[in-house]
Amino acid sequence: MAYDAVKRHLAIEKLVTRSSVKGLERRYYRFRLDRWYGGIVTADCVGCGLLCRFCWVSDRVAYNPSHVGSFYSPEDVALKLLHMADKSGLRQLRLSGGEPTIGKNHLLRLLELLDGSNLSFILETNGIPIAYDSDYAPQLSSYRFIHVRVSLKGCSENEFAMLTGAKPENYRLQLTALERLIENDVSCHPSVMASFSTKESLKALREKLAEISPILAENLEIEELILYPNVRRKIARYGLRYYTSYYPDNIPPEQI
Ligand code: SF4
Repeated sequence: MAYDAVKRHLAIEKLVTRSSVKGLERRYYRFRLDRWYGGIVTADCVGCGLLCRFCWVSDRVAYNPSHVGSFYSPEDVALKLLHMADKSGLRQLRLSGGEPTIGKNHLLRLLELLDGSNLSFILETNGIPIAYDSDYAPQLSSYRFIHVRVSLKGCSENEFAMLTGAKPENYRLQLTALERLIENDVSCHPSVMASFSTKESLKALREKLAEISPILAENLEIEELILYPNVRRKIARYGLRYYTSYYPDNIPPEQI
């Protein structure tokens, strides 16, 4: 049965955050340097409110959020990211592995700590918390060094439901997030997992985005399926059919 994406985000939040004297802590399971965006320091957080059937995150992490990784305060995460950036010379930071906007006070405090570091921060999100919490986008607008990439799961409600198992109407939340970010002058662009989409549905998405803002349609980034071994197992399990894909060692440089 389809799940409600908002309820699931809120339920996951309880499992992967906790209050402490050091503020709101969040579970993380890895800190690493990654090749995307030309090189980026990455902290992998635990927990997402969607269950995308093409997600590269392992089942061990996705289905056991309360047993994976350890709790870190915003200060712990900021120190680690800054230290890794300093050592590697990389100038970009991000959170990945889960949905970074879960645990708003954790993220906002982390951004506060990173502000002024002269590094940029890419906030990759499915957008759902930014849609159901109307204060989120105005609060993000205080941090001018961030850029938000809202990753749309398919081009339509039906594709969203097929790709995530969530209720089809939850797709609208992803577009609402983009509306809120634009209204609040937060630097952002949409990306879309388009490997499962027809040309027609991609065209319809561009039109929908142009209604929100022409700049969103112009800057739409196309994401394509990467066939990591666990992703292949997942899409086989769900019998998903796709039109385009890459193997991990054969990704075109312009996609990295
Ligand atoms: S929104 Fe991202 S992290 Fe969450 S399940 Fe989907 S692909 Fe994975």
